[in-house]
Amino acid sequence: MNLTKYLFSNQCFFCQKESDKLLGGLCSECSTILPATVKKIHNLYYFLDYKLEKDFFILQAKQYNKPVYLKRFTSFCGELLQKQDMKKGIITYVPIHNKIAGVRGFNQSEVIARVLAKKLNMPCIKLLKKIKQTSFQKELHIKERQSNLIDAFSRINKFISSDLIYLVDDITTTGSTLRECEKVLISTGCKKVIFITLARVIK
Ligand SMILES: [Zn+2]
Repeated sequence: MNLTKYLFSNQCFFCQKESDKLLGGLCSECSTILPATVKKIHNLYYFLDYKLEKDFFILQAKQYNKPVYLKRFTSFCGELLQKQDMKKGIITYVPIHNKIAGVRGFNQSEVIARVLAKKLNMPCIKLLKKIKQTSFQKELHIKERQSNLIDAFSRINKFISSDLIYLVDDITTTGSTLRECEKVLISTGCKKVIFITLARVIK
């Protein structure tokens, strides 16, 4: 990133919007969304806390519907993870159903995983496939979320194995999607799964 270009301008170096009040090169909006630290809970690393899922989706609609913003944001997160002394493993991501991928054009979790893999110097490989088209998790209650996901994922590229797999998603709320994917990865030979998401909803 060419910082000097932004030193004497009133342009936010993240979103590139003009602003009269820049804090450390960032506009007020971006300075609130950019994470300052990595947070870790059990086997989950994440960067942003939300009280409501919808806050993340509003932000997402604003900033992340373009992969370029998503990549830039994830790149920040990747630099924070670089300082975490993480063991080498394979990075993979929560898959979306082919039908959804066709509508949106890309899988956000895959975009995030690929940026992180580059920053952490680890391979990013698709290991899971979504075989059941499920209802949107955010529209379901906790119990429904779990049953909605039963047998939703299957393992692909089985010839690739690793004791340690990092599983990436954009956001987690109850963790049921991540745990369902973890089950599949563990049952097909992986010893440990570590989750990485950009955001976590705390209820
Ligand atoms: Zn900005």
